Amino acid sequence: MATIVSGMRPTGNLHLGHLHGALKNWLRLQESYQCFFFVADWHALTTDYATPQGIQESGLEMMKDWLSVGLDPKRCVIFRQSAVKQHAELHLLLSMITPVPWLERNPTYKEQIREIVGKDLSTYGFLGYPVLQAADIVMYKAHKVPVGADQAPHLELTREIVRRFNQFYGQIFPEPEVLLTEIPKVPGLDGRKMSKSYGNAVFLTDSPKEIDRKLSRMMTDPARVRRQDPGEPEKCPAFNLHKIYCTPDEIDYVSKGCRTAGIGCLDCKKIMIKHVVEELQPFQEKRAGYDRRPGDAEDALSAGNRAAQEKAAETMEQVRSAVGL
Ligand code: SF4
Repeated sequence: MATIVSGMRPTGNLHLGHLHGALKNWLRLQESYQCFFFVADWHALTTDYATPQGIQESGLEMMKDWLSVGLDPKRCVIFRQSAVKQHAELHLLLSMITPVPWLERNPTYKEQIREIVGKDLSTYGFLGYPVLQAADIVMYKAHKVPVGADQAPHLELTREIVRRFNQFYGQIFPEPEVLLTEIPKVPGLDGRKMSKSYGNAVFLTDSPKEIDRKLSRMMTDPARVRRQDPGEPEKCPAFNLHKIYCTPDEIDYVSKGCRTAGIGCLDCKKIMIKHVVEELQPFQEKRAGYDRRPGDAEDALSAGNRAAQEKAAETMEQVRSAVGL
């Protein structure tokens, strides 16, 4: 069975962007691959090193979300990155062979240095985070890494590092391939990408009332200023959620109603809101169980940590011997 590795930074409670952007895909993957999913807490430190408070706790909250969505520790290995110290050792060894210009030309690095304000990212750790990412992936000898089309170039750096390592020390790691994933567009309430830091997210744990309140005021086609103004669904951020949640008949009804001003935005959104609430209900019931018994999520994480440590120990034995240590 081919191996997949993927991780997520612990950001606390997850939102609809995480659900449709990654988790639904992970649920499918756990059925047909040997999957390693990890809480990327060391990665969180590359940008949030000055405010590490809460990273540990957020990791556990995220774990509860993962389990409640349906990730099954019997089908996949779920672990905390910092619990598998071998990631740090492999990161160090890979950093020995990674030319600095490879890291400096990384487009995400340049973009984030530009865009993330209020944090000093001119650190060694931030420049080298793709090397840590490479270590995360190759530690489990991943064959594939699920990424959206826009992130596909990011994996190239890992592949380059693998090629260079194998060239020096022998064929230790497979070159991981991109597993291209269709990621539906999940806009936030203001039309930008849904993100906790933008304050525009609908969280998986939001109550039905909160979901209704948030989505009722979600941005729509700016051309529909008054009820009688016709709109264009494709210019409406809320309509992207209709496309995810509604039936074809409902989408047809909404599209026609929008273009002819036959339906008001609030009534239109109610059709989608109902589905969002319904979808999250079983998740929230399960999540409440994990909140009542936090030990369950902790136990699942500890078991995953042990399984990941075992595999990592095996890999590192090979790596040390290949490098001559
Ligand atoms: S009617 Fe619906 S699709 Fe059209 S702008 Fe309003 S919310 Fe968006």
